[in-house]
This record gives sequence, C-alpha cells and structure tokens, in this order.
Amino acid sequence: MFAINHEAVDLDLRYATADNLTGSPIYTHAVALLHPDAHSALERSADLASAMGYRIIVFDAYRPSIAQWRLWEALPDPKFIADPRAAGSTHSRGIAIDLTLADSTGKPLEMGTDFDEMCIQSYHGRLDLDREAHRNRAILLGIMTATGWEHQPYEWWHYNLPDPLVYQKKDDAETVARIMRI
Ligand SMILES: [Zn+2]
Repeated sequence: MFAINHEAVDLDLRYATADNLTGSPIYTHAVALLHPDAHSALERSADLASAMGYRIIVFDAYRPSIAQWRLWEALPDPKFIADPRAAGSTHSRGIAIDLTLADSTGKPLEMGTDFDEMCIQSYHGRLDLDREAHRNRAILLGIMTATGWEHQPYEWWHYNLPDPLVYQKKDDAETVARIMRI
C-alpha cells in the first residue's frame, strides 16, 4: 500500500477527526493509503484535475475492516455503509477513494451536499440540485471515469476500481497499524 502524496492533492481525512458520522476519531494517524493499482489511478486523476485547473481533496482511502465496523455500528444502512459481514467495503481492499474537487487555491467546489451526508441528494443523477453542483459533480465524474474509476450510485464522493473482489481485504496488523490502534 502506498501513501497518497501528490502536489495537486490535499488531505481532509474526516475519520481521523471527530468530524465524521460517529462523532469521534476512528483513525489514529492521518494517512491515506491505496493499493498500488489505485494509487497509480489516483495519480492520473490528480494530473488530469490539475491540467483542468483543479485540486483534489481526499476524505478517505484505505479503511481497515475494524474501522468499517465502527461506521456500520453508527449507521447500519447498506445504501451508505457496506455491511462488514458481507463482502465489506471496497475501502478495506485499498481500491476505493472518497474525494471532492477544489479550485486552484484549495477551496472545495459546491457539490450540493457534504461528504458522508446520508440523504438522497447525495445520489448521482438527482434533478434537485442547483446548476453549479450538477456541473461540479459531472466534472469529478468525468475526471474519475476517464482515469479508470467506477462511480457508486448513492455517494457522489465515492469511486473504486472495477472488479473490486479481485483485490483482497487488507487486515493484517502491520497495515492496520499504519492507520489506527487495534
Ligand atoms: Zn467511499
């Protein structure tokens, strides 16, 4: 797993702070890790965003299964949180990213809802957003799909690599310890 480190990417790792749906920090270290395949895809995404005059803000990347349990216990709704007892989250395989776009100064673009705002306005294809939010989501969707990612219908901020089950969940103690205490 590689740490995200790109000149056009800023980190706002909400699960390392209390500003998340559980109300308390889940991660001990504010580190964003990705599987090498996802890491190189994100480098392409950041290069493309940068060429278009944007920056990327990352909210979450690799998420250990134990962290997925904390989220599931806070919000057991499979539309928004993958059930850790089933296939689990694509984040636990290191091949998913939660992100948004920012302008060249790092100011986040209007997307209609915040990250992790669990409501129907977070779905793709809504008709009840203002024009600017529609346009910004479409730009993010274009950048991400052009650089190898798949979208998720219920969360505008979530993208993962195709064929997620090809990748193993990473729950070995050494990898988990890079993010959080067990
Ligand atoms: Zn996600």
